[in-house]
Amino acid sequence: MVSPVIGITCCFNEKTGRIWLTKYYIEAVAAAGGVPVVLPVLAPVSRIKELLSICHGLLLPGGGDIDPLQFGEEPHPNNGEICPQCDYFELQAAVKALELEMPILGICRGAQVLNVAAGGTVCQDIAHEIEKPIKHFQQAPRWHPTHTIIIEPNSKLKGIIGSRVVKVNSFHHQMVGKLGGNFKVSAQAPDGVIEAIEDNGTDKFVLGVQYHPEAMWRNDKYSQNLFKALVNAAKNFNVKQNCINSKSTL
Ligand code: MN
Repeated sequence: MVSPVIGITCCFNEKTGRIWLTKYYIEAVAAAGGVPVVLPVLAPVSRIKELLSICHGLLLPGGGDIDPLQFGEEPHPNNGEICPQCDYFELQAAVKALELEMPILGICRGAQVLNVAAGGTVCQDIAHEIEKPIKHFQQAPRWHPTHTIIIEPNSKLKGIIGSRVVKVNSFHHQMVGKLGGNFKVSAQAPDGVIEAIEDNGTDKFVLGVQYHPEAMWRNDKYSQNLFKALVNAAKNFNVKQNCINSKSTL
């Protein structure tokens, strides 16, 4: 078959009116053999179904904090900048992609979007949730790993990454809170911070990581493995099925 198309959502800057995405996601998907296509977060939500119908997989990238009202909580004082347009578009896209059983990889904010789309919550500030947190907002180059994660032995992530303990980068002050849908925790930092979630007990490729493999893959085979796994899962996803099976009114 032709190379699978990986739809990647993006960010929006209200002040400049620009939608944007750092190049790393595009490079990482392309290097893994996928065709990256940016899905504009300002497209009408009524067109999400059509946008996804040209994709074999969905990548939800990093970005700002999700509006806590989206998961039924009032904002913690340390909650950061929010983009209502991004929240609305990405949550709807994630809901739709979950319904289609499309391969999904969520990265950082994307892992949190995935969890909220499945009915879960976000822990709004690690420092107030974890008793003795390690540093999760590193002051080192983005490609440089600064803490370890421990991967669950019986997880899909372990099968994909190929190792149980890996070093990752870290740029977050939030993490997945209450798990949504059928998700389970598949990796944690030594302080207990959730670093990866995945769909439990099915063959579906639906997973989220809190770190940024798109910034590490050039030097890190474990990060490469993650993007290759997304592209391989997307190869097996049938776009025609995607259109035919879709019953949503979105
Ligand atoms: Mn971290």
